[in-house]
Amino acid sequence: MLKVYFVYSHPYDRTFCELLNTKQKEKEIRRFINSLNKKKKYISRICKAIEKATGLKFRKDVRCYVVSDTLWKGFSDPLTIRLANMNEFINVLIHELIHVISVQNKNRMKILNKLIERRFNLPLHTRVHIWVNIADMKVKRAIGFKNFIKKKKVLKKNLKKRYKADLIKSYKIAREIAKKIEPQLPENNILKRFEMFLKKK
Ligand SMILES: [Zn+2]
Repeated sequence: MLKVYFVYSHPYDRTFCELLNTKQKEKEIRRFINSLNKKKKYISRICKAIEKATGLKFRKDVRCYVVSDTLWKGFSDPLTIRLANMNEFINVLIHELIHVISVQNKNRMKILNKLIERRFNLPLHTRVHIWVNIADMKVKRAIGFKNFIKKKKVLKKNLKKRYKADLIKSYKIAREIAKKIEPQLPENNILKRFEMFLKKK
């Protein structure tokens, strides 16, 4: 079973802060990492739920950088997540870990990616997030995770500042498609069943 290590890197964080003109929150982040380290069992439960839902296996331990700021809430390579409250952080962590497990199983993902490409004439970013969103919904249901953040508010506030409109649109389209497909797939091992689903129609 993989381990997720949460780390703080001063120069890495400083780079983001200087680029984005944000205050570096080293103390807060170190405290937050301590709280994360107390949740090892929960994080491991999340990883197991991701493996079970997707039908993939984590191949390597993951180092997760917690930073004061990023353009987006986080990204998967190297796994980097912006400091947030615990609920929002876990929400992003689940999403990014699904990216991570997909990349660690690149070869296995090839068929699905081809099938999605054949079915949906959409940009790569949107196509990738159809899969990620479906898996995300399955995992969150399995562990009973609820995101308490009012999404619209967060988006609106940040939208003007930094989100690219086309990127938001891309996420929205992926989310809508995922919502339609997700109920038609089982709770576990969705990779294979999703491939079958896409082959059918
Ligand atoms: Zn993503």
